[in-house]
Amino acid sequence: MKKYIYGFDIGGTSIKIGLFNLSGELIEKWEINTNITNKGVYILEDIYESIKKHQVQLKDVLGYGFGVPGPIVNGIIIKGINLPWENYDLKKEFYKYIKNDLIFVENDANVAVLGETWQGAAKGYKNSAMITVGTGVGGGIVVNSKVIDGTHGSAGEIGHIRVVHENGLLCNCGSVGCLETVASATGIKNMFTQMHQTTNLSTKLKDNYSAKDIFDAAKEGDLLSLAVVEKTSYYLGYACQILSLVTNPDIIIIGGGVAKSGMFFIDKIRKHFQQTAFNSVKDTIIVLAQLGNDAGIYGAASLVVND
Ligand SMILES: [Zn+2]
Repeated sequence: MKKYIYGFDIGGTSIKIGLFNLSGELIEKWEINTNITNKGVYILEDIYESIKKHQVQLKDVLGYGFGVPGPIVNGIIIKGINLPWENYDLKKEFYKYIKNDLIFVENDANVAVLGETWQGAAKGYKNSAMITVGTGVGGGIVVNSKVIDGTHGSAGEIGHIRVVHENGLLCNCGSVGCLETVASATGIKNMFTQMHQTTNLSTKLKDNYSAKDIFDAAKEGDLLSLAVVEKTSYYLGYACQILSLVTNPDIIIIGGGVAKSGMFFIDKIRKHFQQTAFNSVKDTIIVLAQLGNDAGIYGAASLVVND
């Protein structure tokens, strides 16, 4: 009898593996290294060898879900990020080992929002969106429990919405003024440096500060840090305002490393959202993510049951 689901979150250095029951409870999780040599031909073999050794027999597994960084269109990985896969048909390749038709693949940011919607902060909601604020800014959109990929796999790339329209900083994507340039950990540091030069606001922070230092100082009332956090929150509130009118989600989840600063941050984003929100969507809920780094394996596993 089919009793289990596997969820895999593949990154450039490690692969997170989660074993779930059909109710969505995480039974066990572990990690293996990502072997990116030889165009990534060993990655799926390593995963197969790792789960084959486990006491759960593969005949009892209902299906397998994968989260992979990079754009994915119709299940094909167009170009992996930090992974050497290009135009890679993961389902076809993994089927060779597993002989099971229930193999699903989705972008890693998209599986994170699916995970939070299945068993995390947005559990019980069918329409959700997530903004992941970390090294970069990513996101995902769920409508009727399905994640939206779009024609080029770029739906939910919230980090590259242009929010700064004049004198914006250069983004990793090549554009300027993207949300990522003012809300990612690096963006927050850059904005701090820029505002240090252009304002008279005082700060106790010296060189080598991190985004976390800026948030910690802001909580203690450091004037320049507070101004930076306020600005970042304003831009995130603005992004929430756009999201709230494009797909009108019940709930918007804020996750990623920067969100670890907690309700201090969420309250500011909510405040800025409320100031610009369209009347009928003012009640859109904005919450902190709950699953942390496990959101990916949860969401990957959910692909199997939500199919
Ligand atoms: Zn960008």
